[in-house]
Amino acid sequence: MREWIRGGRLSSGRMVDLVVTGGEIEAVVDHDPTASFDSHLHGWLLLPPMTEPHAHLDKALTAEAVRNPTGDLEGAVNAWRDAAEAGMFTSSDVTQRATAAIERLLTSGVTALRTHVNTTPEAGADNVHALRKVRQSFAGMIDMQIVALTSSPMTGPGSEPNRAALAAAIDAGADVIGGCPHLGDRAAESVRYAFEVASDAGLPIDLHTDETLDPSVLTVLDMVESVESLGFDGLVAASHCVSLGVQEVEEQREIAARIAAAGVAVLPQPQTNLYLQGRDDEAAAPRGLTALHALLDAGVLVAAGADNVQDPYNLVGRSDPLETAALLVMAGHVSPEQAYAMVSNNGRRAMGLAPVGFSPGDPADFIAIDAPSVRAAIADAPSSRRVYRAGHLVATADQQTQIHRRESE
Ligand SMILES: [Zn+2]
Repeated sequence: MREWIRGGRLSSGRMVDLVVTGGEIEAVVDHDPTASFDSHLHGWLLLPPMTEPHAHLDKALTAEAVRNPTGDLEGAVNAWRDAAEAGMFTSSDVTQRATAAIERLLTSGVTALRTHVNTTPEAGADNVHALRKVRQSFAGMIDMQIVALTSSPMTGPGSEPNRAALAAAIDAGADVIGGCPHLGDRAAESVRYAFEVASDAGLPIDLHTDETLDPSVLTVLDMVESVESLGFDGLVAASHCVSLGVQEVEEQREIAARIAAAGVAVLPQPQTNLYLQGRDDEAAAPRGLTALHALLDAGVLVAAGADNVQDPYNLVGRSDPLETAALLVMAGHVSPEQAYAMVSNNGRRAMGLAPVGFSPGDPADFIAIDAPSVRAAIADAPSSRRVYRAGHLVATADQQTQIHRRESE
């Protein structure tokens, strides 16, 4: 069936009507203001849909329930572990919070999402099962990938239960192999093990990488070496890469070139890493950001996420990639257009999804937002948005404001 979605505005300023057939854009034509219409976009700006390439939906929205007394990564990890051991999280609780978080993301304009879920010996595949059910409830609305986030150690003494949990998660249908090798003692071996498992399972890999300001930690190089030595040809993402941002500039450039050559995507998480890192420095605290410019100059695929939202790892966050984009502009000093690419099509590429635009044949996945430009959309983050997936309206939000002037006397 052919449908018309009228009255959108491209970034060029051109007002257009979209002809949608079978979930795809059949044609983009000049807006006809005299035509009757079912769907009208009020002249709002048309943009590619947004992505959240790095979430933790099993932890989302627990800021009141799970306190992090130190505010740093170690404090968050310990607080979460203690709460989990005390039996605070049930499958229905995870389902409820994950659903609420996805609804917020959808309303913001996110149609592709990757979530890490804790894959501990205690949890086994429970979180994978819970998130698969949640995904089913959003079928046709949002693409979602589930990453098995393993515990350390993954090699050597004590690793057996953690390896078993990963195997169970893969059996349960995890889509991506994850982990935090830099938090363990045998980081290089753990990276290698993750690649071997991913290779055997035929799955992509997305590791929490160097989430520290300690410049001596550089497991991203272990990832590059694993890609090279194993000839790994699946998708590889290195999330965070905070310590790359505190290397000398020459070092940053050399490493960025190797990352680019290995085809590894880097996924910075400005919200959570500005929150967690740099708390020990009372003066001139460094930013918890990766070497954005060295990576971009080297041609590395960079896509940004929020990471945690309103939990012990990040007390705030609005589940809106425009908030991440604003931080990339303010703290990362990239242009608004670069920042938007990092929270939209670059995220799709990092997740193995085709980028989308407004050309005939593209899927009719897009947002319309009440803003005059990408820069203004990031700056104001107006909540007035329409979110389309395969030509279907999947979320609507309208912002109303009013100024009540006092009558002049
Ligand atoms: Zn994370």
